[in-house]
Amino acid sequence: MNLLRFTEYLMELKDNIQFVSGVGPKKAELFQSELGISTVEDLLWFFPFKYIDRTKFYKTREINTELSHIQVIGKIISFEESGQKFKKRLTAKFADETGSVELIWFQGLKWVKQTYKTEIEYVVFGRPSFYNNRVTIAHPEIEELSKFETGISSAHQAFYPSTEKLKSSFVTSRTFNKLLHSVFVSLGGKIPETFPAWFLQKYKLLPLADSLFNIHFPKNNELLKQAQYRLKFEELFYIQLQLLKQKSNRYNLYKGFVFSEIGKNFNDFYSKNLPFELTGAQKKVIKEIRKDLGSGRQMNRLLQGDVGSGKTLVALMSMLIAIDNNFQTCLMAPTEILASQHFQTLQKFLKGIDIEVSLLTGSTKKAQRTIIHENLMNGSLKILVGTHALIEDTVQFKNLGLVIVDEQHRFGVAQRAKLWTKNVNPPHVLIMTATPIPRTLAMTLYGDLEVSVIDELPPGRKPIKTVHKYDSKRNEVFGFMRKQIEEGRQIYVVYPLIKESEKMDYKDLEDGYESMVRAFPPPKYQVSIVHGKMKPQDKEFEMKRFVENNTNIMVATTVIEVGVDVPNASVMVIESAERFGLSQLHQLRGRVGRGADQSYCILMTGYKLSDDGRKRIETMVRTTDGFDIAETDLKLRGPGDLEGTQQSGIPFDLKIANLAKDGQLLQYARNIAEDIISGDPQLQKPENVIFNTQITKQTKSRFEWGNIG
Ligand code: ADP
Ligand code: MG
Repeated sequence: MNLLRFTEYLMELKDNIQFVSGVGPKKAELFQSELGISTVEDLLWFFPFKYIDRTKFYKTREINTELSHIQVIGKIISFEESGQKFKKRLTAKFADETGSVELIWFQGLKWVKQTYKTEIEYVVFGRPSFYNNRVTIAHPEIEELSKFETGISSAHQAFYPSTEKLKSSFVTSRTFNKLLHSVFVSLGGKIPETFPAWFLQKYKLLPLADSLFNIHFPKNNELLKQAQYRLKFEELFYIQLQLLKQKSNRYNLYKGFVFSEIGKNFNDFYSKNLPFELTGAQKKVIKEIRKDLGSGRQMNRLLQGDVGSGKTLVALMSMLIAIDNNFQTCLMAPTEILASQHFQTLQKFLKGIDIEVSLLTGSTKKAQRTIIHENLMNGSLKILVGTHALIEDTVQFKNLGLVIVDEQHRFGVAQRAKLWTKNVNPPHVLIMTATPIPRTLAMTLYGDLEVSVIDELPPGRKPIKTVHKYDSKRNEVFGFMRKQIEEGRQIYVVYPLIKESEKMDYKDLEDGYESMVRAFPPPKYQVSIVHGKMKPQDKEFEMKRFVENNTNIMVATTVIEVGVDVPNASVMVIESAERFGLSQLHQLRGRVGRGADQSYCILMTGYKLSDDGRKRIETMVRTTDGFDIAETDLKLRGPGDLEGTQQSGIPFDLKIANLAKDGQLLQYARNIAEDIISGDPQLQKPENVIFNTQITKQTKSRFEWGNIG
């Protein structure tokens, strides 16, 4: 095929790919549905995932299944069809002078038979595998030798990801080589640069057009490296630039309340009520928050701290600063249980200090609710604790100065945004999360927020002992549980719940509950159960029984994952532990180890474990450090799958950069973005307008971050 023949007119980036030679409406639709590629530009930004040497030709005699890909020249000797109706397949004997190899198709048999002829020399490319005890190449790429474009076959031949559907429509990696080649020819170099010239020069970056060309058709290894570097840098840089611009916009748009006083309430609490020394990390974080609150800027701070690191106290002390400056505050939690725990904790901490605290949840009675509304409006109620009932429209504050959101990832982005309508000026916002996030991810997910980290646990905590036990050791585990119960401890037993198989999972849970009751029979033992399908009242009731130590064992799904605090519970048994993600396992384990006693986490699995499943279990046994676990999780799963990232609105299907591997480059890109924003916050200087254009383009396809607290 002569590529140039179809490209007499020049294409534009925005053109639909159906106009690229060799595509057409039908294939264009397929590209769109399978890969999300609809324009020429999309195609250019569809990057290969590896490079292979296509200058090398094998002889059929040399082919074995150890080779990841082979390329041979030869002729089809014969075709043979076999199999019944829906299981038909077509095989071809493909031979050169050293022997033969089998080609096989399971789809498009008719087309194959019509298209490829015997007695013509072909280049066959594909992955050798064993089929019916023979070395076979399934759905190979085939081209006539006489038309084989050596020009697009290099030692660094780009290799593109494909899907089953594309393969069965004969769209292979080679198809992309050809399409892209034709695109480059017909664009005639018309790829607008996305960085200013001064920027390319200053940071020694390959121009975009060269980068795109070399990512698809590397001229040599050096240029390929430079192209990859430039494109990764660009991807990370523009995300950071956008986040930083939003942050700077927010500073300019809103004045923050100035909390200049550290007054009576804070000092009384500190000197009289604080039951222990603050940890160094708590002190550091409170200092950071104080600085924000006094700065005249509206605070948007994320507080990361592992489970049990003492975030509640930090929250309370921040609230006291607000109250000392005559503002109201609220603390939001994702569940009623958590909200009422916070309420009780705050009341306990504030004993003897004259500050009114109330609890508002979905089950607050109407009469009580009315009183709360009144006291909020007249300003006498200083601390309101609650669930998302807090952000219902009828709740109005007199002067809300600080909002604290606990266990942030359970709150929808939209719910948080609603907070902003509670005031003329937006309150300061502190988001607390116990899900540690790797630094690179935090920088991207929360790149427009300030981040504080509590990286130290209160002293005297005994590290939780974690063990992995196979299901066959269940009796041993039960024996251990009995001993712990005899010592007065309580135990969680958690079952996985995965949406796709909910019915089966609930059966697992119920079976599990029954077998627990059999192993721990009443009246000697009491077993309670909590899961997401129960009525809220029933759930509360069962939870309360456990909190008050009226039951020994709590059988549950992950509904107990977040925040629940029962210091007397010292054993966490996780069934089918391989089915949980790492951050979930870490959260679950965090439910124990909250009291003075040695705590244990027992991870139960069958013998059969996937590689990843085994790595997750090993990681849990190896470390209790949430950040270590989060880094491992990022490496195992990639950022897109990490908890909390889906709702973030940030595109984690980065096209070329990798947050697990490109941490240094990310930091570098962020530093440069910071430089630029601090010199030109609106990106209005002529030398920076390209940046602005790019950000605007990028924002269009993305969630608006600006209004999230
Ligand atoms: P989390 O960060 O998981 O929300 P909490 O705020 O619930 O942690 O704190 C866990 C436990 O540690 C609580 O019982 C709390 O009273 C206690 N705690 C907090 N700070 C300290 C400290 N500096 N020294 C000792 N215990 C502390
Ligand atoms: Mg907490």
